[in-house]
Amino acid sequence: MHAIELENIRKVYKGGVEALKGISLRVEEGDFYALLGPNGAGKSTTIGIISSLVNKTEGKVKVFGYDLDTQLESVKAQIGLVPQEFNFNQFEPPIQILVNQAGYYGIKRKDAFIRAEKYLRQLDLWGKRNAPSRELSGGMKRRLMIARALIHGPRLLILDEPTAGVDIEVRRSMWEFLKKINAEGVTIVLTTHYLEEAEMLCRHIGIIDKGILVENTSMKELLARL
Ligand code: ADP
Ligand code: ADP
Repeated sequence: MHAIELENIRKVYKGGVEALKGISLRVEEGDFYALLGPNGAGKSTTIGIISSLVNKTEGKVKVFGYDLDTQLESVKAQIGLVPQEFNFNQFEPPIQILVNQAGYYGIKRKDAFIRAEKYLRQLDLWGKRNAPSRELSGGMKRRLMIARALIHGPRLLILDEPTAGVDIEVRRSMWEFLKKINAEGVTIVLTTHYLEEAEMLCRHIGIIDKGILVENTSMKELLARL
């Protein structure tokens, strides 16, 4: 079973930038996949298309076998996205952000609190659960977004540069957490521009440059070649 199938994806933004020039790739269910590349390569556009936030210009996208053009509603709840920007209400405390998010997916209030509290503890946010989120450090805000992306129990977690601007201690603990989530069966795709991060975490890697997938291989195979 493939978690993700991209077939010949092109994306031309309004204004004419061709961000993706025909990307094809597959990610197996259970995999931990990194999309590596320099700034402007097309990483965010690719994961935006997989999470249905960005409209593709051409090509086919399937998530768990569902075509996003026609069957998005069937698969939406299987996807969790951690975007790059902090897009939560900074006046709300973490507990409220998580419980509200669970509510969007129709999770009952009692269950929502149980799930929220589990992730607040696991991601070391417990002490700040009732504080306005603007008081959280950058690393804590990132972890809050990871918790929010997981609260409805998706089978696919997509993260856009999850450790950007995070110090090495916190980065390591985030890596441990993501490995644990993956070991529990969640397929993970992340973008990064650190090869080291991909090496620490991922089984497969795609390297994207100027809208073209220039490598798509196992981490092992790539490292053997470097
Ligand atoms: P990366 O995530 O690898 O840094 P992006 O996918 O963000 O790359 O961007 C790929 C290209 O598309 C860049 O040239 C970027 O400036 C352009 N781009 C990204 N988002 C938009 C947008 N919303 N409108 C116009 N151009 C965009
Ligand atoms: P789409 O074609 O996917 O609907 P748009 O071209 O409408 O995307 O752009 C989405 C938003 O991103 C716009 O509000 C635009 O202002 C903003 N944007 C424009 N250029 C860029 C860029 N180079 N990088 C990131 N965002 C951009």
